[in-house]
Amino acid sequence: MLQFTVLPVTPLRQNATLIWDDETLDAVLTDVGGDVDYLLNEVAQRNLKLTAVWLTHGHFDHIGGVAELLKKQSVQVYGCHRDDAYLFAMLPEVASRYGMRAEQFSPTQFLDENDTVRVGNFTFRVLHIPGHTPGSVVYYCEAANLLIAGDVLFRESIGRTDFPRGDSAALLHGITHKLFRLPENTQVITGHGALTTIGHEKQHNPFFLDTTWGNRC
Ligand SMILES: [Zn+2]
Ligand SMILES: [Zn+2]
Repeated sequence: MLQFTVLPVTPLRQNATLIWDDETLDAVLTDVGGDVDYLLNEVAQRNLKLTAVWLTHGHFDHIGGVAELLKKQSVQVYGCHRDDAYLFAMLPEVASRYGMRAEQFSPTQFLDENDTVRVGNFTFRVLHIPGHTPGSVVYYCEAANLLIAGDVLFRESIGRTDFPRGDSAALLHGITHKLFRLPENTQVITGHGALTTIGHEKQHNPFFLDTTWGNRC
């Protein structure tokens, strides 16, 4: 079975997530924003083998701990889409604006739409959903009914688009045409705050209530 535990990190309470296959004990961490010792301790406590880090987008609270983790453990780093490469280049400078330290690194591989990544016997498909950032991706596992959404979709909200290169029309289009076509019972791990499901968001997300997906109240 695929198991996961959400581990909020940094003062921004970013939802890093530890995901593992409980048969093979292979594990990945998503969005290693910081608090690396805490995250690695969660891996070790469960006797898991950390194989990779998966990144949803280039904001510092989602990638700021990766360089430190790589010094302690050699793992592959996948994602996000290369359109966020400019954010990776700005990482130390942006983190310091928030009073945090983060070193630069390069992912092992940027990802494109429909690429796949694996943890144990489970495959996740990559969907590229720009708007919050140009290179935002989400990871979808059909077999486990699980979506790692980063800052694309939140419980009853969506990612901010008021940053430079934000695009609210692209974000709404991507959510409607890619995420809202997934099964309603798909569990969604958001980038911050509570988890949700695709069905809940189609019914209750105020950004979509004037479309055919939502019920008007
Ligand atoms: Zn973000
Ligand atoms: Zn975030």
